[in-house]
Amino acid sequence: MNPDAQQRIGFIGAGNMAFGIAKGMLSGNVLPANIKVSAPSSTNLGRFQELGISVTHSNIEVVCGSDVVFVSVKPHMIPHVLVEVSQHITKKQIIVSVAAGVTLAMLEELLPENSIVIRLMPNLPCLVQEGALLFALGTNAKGEDGALLLSLLHCCGLVEEVPEAWIDVHTGLSGSGVAFVYLFAEALAEGAVKMGMPSALAHSIASQTVLGAGKLLRDSGKHPAQLRADVCTPGGTTIYGLHTLEQGGMRASVMNAVESATQRARELG
Ligand code: NAD
Repeated sequence: MNPDAQQRIGFIGAGNMAFGIAKGMLSGNVLPANIKVSAPSSTNLGRFQELGISVTHSNIEVVCGSDVVFVSVKPHMIPHVLVEVSQHITKKQIIVSVAAGVTLAMLEELLPENSIVIRLMPNLPCLVQEGALLFALGTNAKGEDGALLLSLLHCCGLVEEVPEAWIDVHTGLSGSGVAFVYLFAEALAEGAVKMGMPSALAHSIASQTVLGAGKLLRDSGKHPAQLRADVCTPGGTTIYGLHTLEQGGMRASVMNAVESATQRARELG
């Protein structure tokens, strides 16, 4: 049996991110019987149970029964939750925080000395195994801990280890970037509705356009400017549309959005 299939995985917090990561793991080697999730209310726990995952209201129960613990509560809840479970954490467990803006130094300060800590920044497309996940190792985490995390998460999407300085940038680029792409998809569809296309058709074509463009961008390995040039017939429709986007300052707006989301992630820390 693959070693990561034997790992006992815990999630503190049963929100969208925990669900996305758990779902991704299940499509890999991890068995539902080896996952446990906690949250104070039952509201979000039902969808985990539907996947065969066991649930509890006790964060301590999750910590005591897990080799790898994902802390997936909102950033402001992190101190409260870590103080609650701290005395039950052993030096063998790996604690993985997904909280935006919460640094390794802050996590290590809240946890017992010598705890193995990893800071992970996922994004919502983990739900469909197309996430973009970066992680940074804490002071006591070794290469083998990173390798285990990679192995657990490989079915969630693209996963890479990076220096911690890149995690907040990734939050702006990809954690928040998903919402920027949705705004673009919405605007594409609304443009078509304005030109008379029925809304349902416009939205389904816009989502397929975003999906197809993204897949081609990733799979071709080409620079986006190259792919854009490939679509531009001289004097044709696309260059007219691109000119309009440039007049609206789209490039600067998107760059500013990544910058402000990154800065906000840094402020949260
Ligand atoms: P969410 O609001 O969907 O989920 C939070 C969960 O925490 C809920 O199930 C809630 O019941 C639970 N919770 C609240 N208090 C708790 C407590 N005391 N003990 C145990 N559980 C408790 O939030 P989310 O979107 O899943 O985000 C979770 C974390 O993931 C955040 O720190 C966020 O910064 C990070 N993150 C989210 C995204 C994203 O796209 N949603 C991307 C990257 C990182």
